[in-house]
Amino acid sequence: MKSVRIPGPNEKLKVVESETPKPQDNQVLVKVKAVGVCHSDLHLWEGGYDLGDGQFMKVTDRGVKYPVTPGHEIVGTVEDIGSNVSGISRGDQVLVYPWIGCGVCPACKVGNENLCDTPKSLGVFQDGGYSDYSLIPHSKYLAKLDGVDPESATSLACSGLTAYTAIKKSNQNSPEFLVIIGAGGLGLMGVQIAKAITKAKVICVDLDDQKLETAKEMGADFILNSKDPETSKKIISICNNKGADSVVDFVNAPPTAKLGLAVLRKRGNLVLVGLFGGSIEMSLVTIPLKSIIIQGAYTGNYTDMVELMDLARKGVINPMISKRYSLDDANAALEDLKARKILGRAVINP
Ligand code: NAD
Ligand code: ZN
Repeated sequence: MKSVRIPGPNEKLKVVESETPKPQDNQVLVKVKAVGVCHSDLHLWEGGYDLGDGQFMKVTDRGVKYPVTPGHEIVGTVEDIGSNVSGISRGDQVLVYPWIGCGVCPACKVGNENLCDTPKSLGVFQDGGYSDYSLIPHSKYLAKLDGVDPESATSLACSGLTAYTAIKKSNQNSPEFLVIIGAGGLGLMGVQIAKAITKAKVICVDLDDQKLETAKEMGADFILNSKDPETSKKIISICNNKGADSVVDFVNAPPTAKLGLAVLRKRGNLVLVGLFGGSIEMSLVTIPLKSIIIQGAYTGNYTDMVELMDLARKGVINPMISKRYSLDDANAALEDLKARKILGRAVINP
């Protein structure tokens, strides 16, 4: 099989040929049809996350081992199955759930493998889908497409799923006004999901007017370019001069987190999702005085992925795939994402 691997942090991706594996026991071999290119692949390529104050969290300290094949938004056709597999057959079109856990920690026991203490996620801690074949450890990590468009389905394993988890968290206080920061792969899914499952008026913020226009087409009630220094004032004014009930920050860098905190009303709810990183100083008394909630959201569980597939099947959400690359062009795919040239999501078709 042919895979594209990251040899080490910031090294050019390399095309590698290896023997196509034969699935054993519960394993399934998937012939990859499309794999989404996520901003998290970029963080993996860069070797980690910006912690702020000159600090850097290396992914190798979190258990990543290079070389690694990235790609966690995998859709394909079942090519071969191990001897214990039932319910999945050769030829089935499937979406892969990549957030694989240990199966025994407290999170895994309640079905939240995405929050596992010792994660084994595909395309991060083990080889993923930038490859013509992907070996999936167990058939329970597959969901049949059953009518969902294969390329759109890629988004439902990460960008859609993460947005779904985050928007559900933001909806806990039944917001009248919900601010979504970032109109990239995650944010655009967030806008559609927010319009589908909350009653909130959605205010979307980005630095890029074209992405904001797309957010509007996808249902955002208000769009604002945060290059405008008056952005936080404008948001508060839209929110009846009280501020936003909830903010979901799909960027989560110092300027966006500060904006989120600045526009949050009393009893507000801030959900931090992006991994752009950095650090901010906070005045502590405002947190109890305003009784705000600040929480994180990380990907989502298998059940949520299946729920989301149902929303896509009904046409309630329509993931946007704007660009396609071959495996040989994986470097260009990541460079284009870094240069903010991708609208919605790009996929690689091996
Ligand atoms: P993307 O590159 O597709 O989109 C990022 C968007 O943010 C772009 O539209 C860009 O214009 C906008 N942006 C950047 N800086 C901004 C700023 N200062 N103010 C306003 N807008 C700004 O990225 P993506 O795939 O949507 O991922 C977004 C982030 O979420 C990444 O850091 C990614 O690693 C992370 N992520 C987190 C999870 C999770 O589970 N928490 C899952 C997947 C991705
Ligand atoms: Zn992702």
